[in-house]
Amino acid sequence: DYITLDGNTGEVFIGRLGVVDPELSEEFSELMSWADKIRRLGVRTNADTPKDAGVARKFGAEGIGLCRTEHMFFDEDRIKAFREMIVFADDPERRKRALDKIRPYQENDFYELFKVMDGYTVTIRLLDPPLHEFLPKTEADIEELSESTNVRIDEIKSKSEELHEFNPMLGHRGCRLAITYPEIAIMQTEAIIGAALRAKKEGIDVHPEIMVPLVGKVEELEYLDRIIRQTADNMISKSIGKDGELSYHVGTMIEIPRAALTADEIAKIAEFFSFGTNDLTQMTFGYSRDDAGRFIKDYEDKGILKRDPFKTLDQNGVGKLVKMAVDLGRKTRPNIKLGICGEHGGDPDSIDFCHRTGLTYVSCSPYRVPIARLAAAQAALRNKNKEYKW
Ligand code: PEP
Ligand code: MG
Repeated sequence: DYITLDGNTGEVFIGRLGVVDPELSEEFSELMSWADKIRRLGVRTNADTPKDAGVARKFGAEGIGLCRTEHMFFDEDRIKAFREMIVFADDPERRKRALDKIRPYQENDFYELFKVMDGYTVTIRLLDPPLHEFLPKTEADIEELSESTNVRIDEIKSKSEELHEFNPMLGHRGCRLAITYPEIAIMQTEAIIGAALRAKKEGIDVHPEIMVPLVGKVEELEYLDRIIRQTADNMISKSIGKDGELSYHVGTMIEIPRAALTADEIAKIAEFFSFGTNDLTQMTFGYSRDDAGRFIKDYEDKGILKRDPFKTLDQNGVGKLVKMAVDLGRKTRPNIKLGICGEHGGDPDSIDFCHRTGLTYVSCSPYRVPIARLAAAQAALRNKNKEYKW
């Protein structure tokens, strides 16, 4: 049964009422324009679809700080191809062929995002979640995969068991996937650069950034940076003269404590850092993101935690790692671009911390963009007479 909820008053109506998109009032725009004059932090958005990116632009987002590409793999046509790649994971040629099917879809997704974000930076993160999330779950899915790949059902089942992880959050995910299967990074880079070249040809002002997730050792980034740059430079040099120059940047998330502690080494390769404070909180506290909800409320009630650290940044602990990484990163690369794309990027207290720590921008979900613009201005006013070294 449909019901309709008035989000302002809390009234609930029986049935599916006709609705209209809210208009942004002149007063709202005026208030936001005052905030924009005062704030020092940039405000970007976390968006993976042109629709979300469009909403965020309307709310004043200045680019995409995080495009999570895994969502782009879950669509009906793509998941099948990706499952094929998992089934043939031991055969690089077949892995590549399976990924070739996904590339055009990805390229088109990125092209649409570049169009919506004309003139602004779009930071695209390489595939992050563990492989087993993509495995077929129902008998019907398994049968279908068996038919399309000619691989026996029991073989597919045993592949699934093989991929089972006891602790997937700390398992084979993030850059570790692309290190085992470099074809994923190559395919995604081809899709990003292909989309950027196409958009540029049509007069769109594109600024792509390729972001590597879950780096803990500079060697991981070094390995992938080489693959990404080889792939991208090759495509760009082939198109020079037709589409002109295209510049792009390669950087990393800082979301593993070891990455924060060795940020000076990582900045030798990374052109930018984006703090993934969801994972950084998880790994600094040792609280599982998937399970902590069961006890965080008790901790708050008993005064052990003042705030849920997954919502408001724990400045004394996790924040100390962020500060350390900012200082170490700048020591190696003084003009390094520094952002935050964890959920904290839309939380006013955490935004105040980002301002004081000298980050370049915060990135948050589309509907939080106005809050972030205002909070960034309030942070600038609140800290007006204080000296910071950024
Ligand atoms: C993070 O870890 O803060 C982050 C933005 O990445 P994800 O939430 O996708 O792990
Ligand atoms: Mg993360």
